[in-house]
Parts: sequence; C-alpha cells; structure tokens
Amino acid sequence: MEESPFNSTVYVNGTISDGAVAVVPVFDHGFLYGEGVYETLRTYRQSPFLLDRHLTRLRTSASLINLTIPQDDSELAAAITTTMRHAALKGEQYVRLIVTRGVGDLSYDPAGCPTPTVIIIVKTHRETSPENMENGIRIIISSILRNHPEAVNPRIKSNNLLNSALAMQEAIQAGAQEALMRNYRGELSECSQSNIFLVKESKVLTPSLESGLLEGVTRNFVFEIGAHTGFTVRETVLGDSDVHEADEIFITSTTREILPVTRVEDRTVGSGAPGPVTLALAAAFRRQAELLSGGSDP
Ligand code: PMP
Repeated sequence: MEESPFNSTVYVNGTISDGAVAVVPVFDHGFLYGEGVYETLRTYRQSPFLLDRHLTRLRTSASLINLTIPQDDSELAAAITTTMRHAALKGEQYVRLIVTRGVGDLSYDPAGCPTPTVIIIVKTHRETSPENMENGIRIIISSILRNHPEAVNPRIKSNNLLNSALAMQEAIQAGAQEALMRNYRGELSECSQSNIFLVKESKVLTPSLESGLLEGVTRNFVFEIGAHTGFTVRETVLGDSDVHEADEIFITSTTREILPVTRVEDRTVGSGAPGPVTLALAAAFRRQAELLSGGSDP
C-alpha cells in the first residue's frame, strides 16, 4: 500500500507538527517561485548519514541562488535531531531539509524576503525492494534535456524541480523506474533523481561535472569506495553508445544507494542481471555506511 505523505513529522521555523497540518504561507517564495534549496538524507543506525557533506552542499546550493542561511551547521543539525526525536520512529528515517527564500511580496527582489524559511520533514525511510536489488531496474532515456548550466545550473539542488519532474513523468508513463537525461550537447548527464554509472571491462565511468549535473553525495562516496575496493572509478564524457555498450549500469542516490540497472528502454544491459562490479560496490557501500554510523564490520 502507498504510504500517506502525512505520515511524517514536520519542522517549520522552529514549530514541529504532524505532516497533515504543517503549513508554509502562500507568499513563501519557495512556493511562488521555487526559490529554495534542499537536501535529502537518510539514517543508518538512526544517525543521519554524511550530514556534514549534505550541509556543505546545501550552502553551496544556497550561495548559487544568493540565499544566506542564517543558522550555522550545528543549529541545523540540532533542529534535525529535535524533529527526529519528535517523530520517535523505530527504524531508519528519511530526512528532507529545505531552506526557502521566505515570505515576501510578489517581487523577485530578495530584499523583500528578510527571513528564510527552514523546513525539516522526517518520515520512515523506505528501503529499495529486494526485488529491485536482485533483478535491477529499467530506465528510459528522457526526451527532456537536463537544464543548461547557464540557465538553471543542475549543480544547485533547488526546489525548482520541473526539469526533473517532466523527465520522470516520461519514465512513469513508460513503466520505468528512472529517467536518464542528456545535456544540451547530447552527452549523458544524470537521472531525474540520481547519478548514473556505467561499467565497461571492469572500469567504472560516470559523467563528469562539466556535463552539467548534481554532484551527488553518494556519487562522491562511490569514488572513495572504488579506491578501497580496487575498482577504477573515473569521470568522463559519455554518450548513448556507451549505454548500449556497457557491461553493467547502476544509479546512485542517498535513498537508493547503489541500484543496478538491467534494462534501458527495451534493451538488456550485459547479462540482464546485476553485474559483479555493481554488486561488489553495493556491498562495500553498505558495509562502509554501517561502519561510519557506528556499526561493526560483519
Ligand atoms: N541527481 C539528482 C538530480 C538528484 O535529485 C539526486 C538525489 N538527491 C542525485 C543526483 C543523487 O544525489 P545524492 O547522492 O546526494 O542523493
């Protein structure tokens, strides 16, 4: 059964309430203009994973839209902890931290919005289904291009998500689970909500930042895990032919970790089953996440 969006606990500027009644004013520019930035985190062992990296990226995103976040990292971390405590959830948690321009008149002048709105949504984290992990997912290549970096830079993790939403609508329409997007030059950039990696002859390749994409926290973690596990992980320019020739494909994101892709459109990737490099990296990722969250090496 689909879970209700209201099964959540929400912090809005210091007030914590049930997701069913949490509100942001209509004149908030996050709502009016999509002027806001956000981070999605998940917990391992009830602890937000790589929180420092997410907060650093939040500030990078904020500075790229000329938004100053008044709270320092320890204040934001404390607000997350307080909201999680109120939610009192047993298992792992999903945490979305949003900072918008705030409430102001109908004008693009940031001076009209003196106080940013800080929102934290906490709900139960939904693990990827074992079926998707075991069989891999199917993705499409979207007809929607990733935003030009000189239009709305994909480096900014912003509330202005129409570019991603339109691409994902195509995937949903096609019964697929993710939409791979090209940039204006026709190079692969990233998926609507995740980064993409291709494996060819045991080399792991991902589009470079110059192709216009979000610098995923999980993407960066894969470079580190690759170094630990002996796989070469490199950034490069990639195109459609690389997808067709790949032995393995996987996507990465905070909530989906490392997830195998076994079909692109109606073509099978490699053997049609999650490949050995993907599985090795996924296992190493999980091990490292548990270790960094206070767990022990199984
Ligand atoms: N690209 C886009 C467009 C995303 O929305 C996400 C999900 N946050 C990612 C990549 C993956 O980023 P991360 O690993 O930091 O979750």
